[in-house]
Amino acid sequence: MKLLVRQDNRSESLRLERDLEYGIAEYAPGAEVIANGWTLVSGGIDLQNRELEIRFYRVCSECNRVEREAQATDIPAQCPTCGTFPTGQRARTMKYIVPRGFTTLIDDPVEDVRLYRLKPPPNSEVFLVEGAEPDRFQPHPEFSGISLGYRPDGQLFRANSGPKGGHFSVCRICGNAKRKTGTHKKPWGPDCNGGKIITDLVCEFRTDTLQIRFDGVRPAPPGVSDRSFWLSLQTAFIAAVADTLVIPRRDLDGTYRSQGEGSSAGELVIYDRVPGGAGYVGRSGRNCLEYWRRRLNASSSVQTLRASWREAAMPACGHTGISLAGIFCAETGSPSGFHLYWKVGEGAESSVRFWRR
Ligand SMILES: [Zn+2]
Ligand SMILES: [Zn+2]
Repeated sequence: MKLLVRQDNRSESLRLERDLEYGIAEYAPGAEVIANGWTLVSGGIDLQNRELEIRFYRVCSECNRVEREAQATDIPAQCPTCGTFPTGQRARTMKYIVPRGFTTLIDDPVEDVRLYRLKPPPNSEVFLVEGAEPDRFQPHPEFSGISLGYRPDGQLFRANSGPKGGHFSVCRICGNAKRKTGTHKKPWGPDCNGGKIITDLVCEFRTDTLQIRFDGVRPAPPGVSDRSFWLSLQTAFIAAVADTLVIPRRDLDGTYRSQGEGSSAGELVIYDRVPGGAGYVGRSGRNCLEYWRRRLNASSSVQTLRASWREAAMPACGHTGISLAGIFCAETGSPSGFHLYWKVGEGAESSVRFWRR
């Protein structure tokens, strides 16, 4: 994703590009971008001679699913997946656009770098919007109670609702998104009297995804509405996978959601963040055992794994009480695998063995 620099003498020397996921935050209208010792301010959406396509979305905080439709009226008040009436920050149906790029405004000054830069508006978490079909789930080849749904082109969704959740105000005609009422100028200079819409920015991308269900594990994990549990599990799981594969954590990421219509059971989702797909997620699917076996044997020590799982589990669950009690390696003391361990309610504990020799 690009930021088009329109100011004279600067455009030649600056090629500003970011990943899609970070682009909608770092290049969002109003964001300050530092390059070549200058501070540039993004001022709008680069429409690239196309019409602005406006769609609608709504997040259900109960089951962590996103509804997307071409018309606002097609999104029912009641969540079609879990049946609740969504509440919370993103419960309102919002407009969204998927920008192809961003632009500065030609008349905006280019300033020298200051000591501080405005923080870009934060992105939402990531949501899986297209995953494996229900009949594509396979039992884990070795461990009963766990099933896996792999999809090489799962679709993920991430929104940016602007500074302090105040959304963006974008001209339908020219893409100008400076916070200002009345007439404005097109990013390249001439006057414009196009109307502005209030919208969020969204990136939708496809990559390798793996959904993991624990339906046969006893006791079962808590329902999907137990956010602290699922966030902790997600964070810890990603950290452990990255440690086990000896790859940077940023190469993988995760999310969770309900399994589907009428179900309060959750599923963990992990996805590949490397452009083009490095295949990490696929490897943790059905045919991964040999790969994991080799990696586990090569990994440093049981102690390292144990420490990193614990550390990762804490920040997510520290806020709302610990429901993910801890994650441990195999009982043998040799690097032969690791256990996932959770606590459900009073005393009931479940230990899930994931990968082992
Ligand atoms: Zn729901
Ligand atoms: Zn305009």
